[in-house]
Amino acid sequence: MPNTSASPAPKIGFVSLGCPKALTDSELILTQLSAEGYRTAKTFEGADLVIVNTCGFIDDAVKESLDTIGEALAANGKVIVTGCLGARQADDGENLVQQMHPSVLAVTGPHATQEVMDAVHAHLPKPHDPFLDLVPGGFGEAGLKLTPKHYAYLKISEGCNHRCTFCIIPSMRGDLVSRPVGDVLREAQALFEGGVRELLIISQDTSAYGVDLKYRTGFWDGKPVKTRLLELVQALGDLAAQYKAWVRLHYVYPYPSVDAVVELMAQGKVLPYLDVPFQHSHPDVLKRMKRPADGEKNLERIQRWRELCPELVLRSTFIAGFPGETEEEFQHLLDFMEQAQIDRAGCFAYSDVQGAAANDLPGMLPQALREERRARFMAVAERISSQRLQRRVGHVMQVLVDHAPALGRKGGRGRSYADAPEIDGIVHLLPPQKVSKTLKVGEFTKAKIVQAQGHDLIAQPI
Ligand code: SF4
Repeated sequence: MPNTSASPAPKIGFVSLGCPKALTDSELILTQLSAEGYRTAKTFEGADLVIVNTCGFIDDAVKESLDTIGEALAANGKVIVTGCLGARQADDGENLVQQMHPSVLAVTGPHATQEVMDAVHAHLPKPHDPFLDLVPGGFGEAGLKLTPKHYAYLKISEGCNHRCTFCIIPSMRGDLVSRPVGDVLREAQALFEGGVRELLIISQDTSAYGVDLKYRTGFWDGKPVKTRLLELVQALGDLAAQYKAWVRLHYVYPYPSVDAVVELMAQGKVLPYLDVPFQHSHPDVLKRMKRPADGEKNLERIQRWRELCPELVLRSTFIAGFPGETEEEFQHLLDFMEQAQIDRAGCFAYSDVQGAAANDLPGMLPQALREERRARFMAVAERISSQRLQRRVGHVMQVLVDHAPALGRKGGRGRSYADAPEIDGIVHLLPPQKVSKTLKVGEFTKAKIVQAQGHDLIAQPI
């Protein structure tokens, strides 16, 4: 049963599912809840109300979200649902969550902090705290973070102007809305001030930052800055340098304008790491997917980037077995992988997403064939990845320490510039040989790579 005692500070249980973009929504809601004096509960039973931030991207994520809502309802009874699944409709046009779980108190779509707060206030009145009520905000620009203290995601825009046929994000999150450049930079500074040493820039389409604002000039630190990726990266790089921190870019599409960003990487302003969701290589498949930057020039673009910045690490995701994909088109993708030498690649076997236009495309492939192509793709991708990792053996790399019990006396775990948290490999750190050397979470250490193992490296701190 929920905690129904008349506590001056009611407790809220919070479950955050889904991608880093959903995580930043969760952080905004939790920041606001804490600023208003609500406490958090670790269990559904110990909470006065539960908020579930859902994901609605693929069918497995939908199932996980619906199951979590069901568990929260069974254990607590008072549940508010937010996030991408909250924006989904069932086949009859009804709200899917409300249809499956009619007893939820309220349902909102993603990026809806105020609506969630309104629902919380309606069902669990705001605690009155004479001190907190006088403090505006209370958590500064950076707010509460769900990530470890030393890295954080920073969302620079919401929504997307593209209409990829396999994706329903624009129907859930709407068209691109970029955050003002001054706000983004202020939040970045607050995060660095708070101890963040790696800032992960996210959005649905990072390269398009500022398009909706016609690259309007904003202000930061008393100086004009354009709302555009190049200028943002330049300013973030200058800011990060003051804190000796890293900046990593995710979800960048291969537009010609990215060349100038790669030049900044070569100058060491931001990490030479690009997460580019190519999804496929064959121009006809990309056209059927309605992808931005349709692929004719992607190989040349990658070659140019590698010339500009030989250290560049590329991460990407792909879809195998898209409707109508011929063996020849799939082979084109494997050839692309060989030539592009993508360092880190993930691959999904195509699966229908409810409400996506691709479901109606002709030439749906049998599930077994989609899976078989995914497996063939991953065999090639993993070989390339491990060959590229092998080349690091013997080199010294800068490693950001993520885990180091007892000051690293028995070793620890970290990541190099080539490894984004949670999606790439890790660097296993051996116990330091020098007695005076310690490892601390959130600090950098130099380490000599002694072995490559699967997706990971083994290194000796020096
Ligand atoms: S670029 Fe395509 S896949 Fe990415 S969010 Fe926009 S529509 Fe979806």
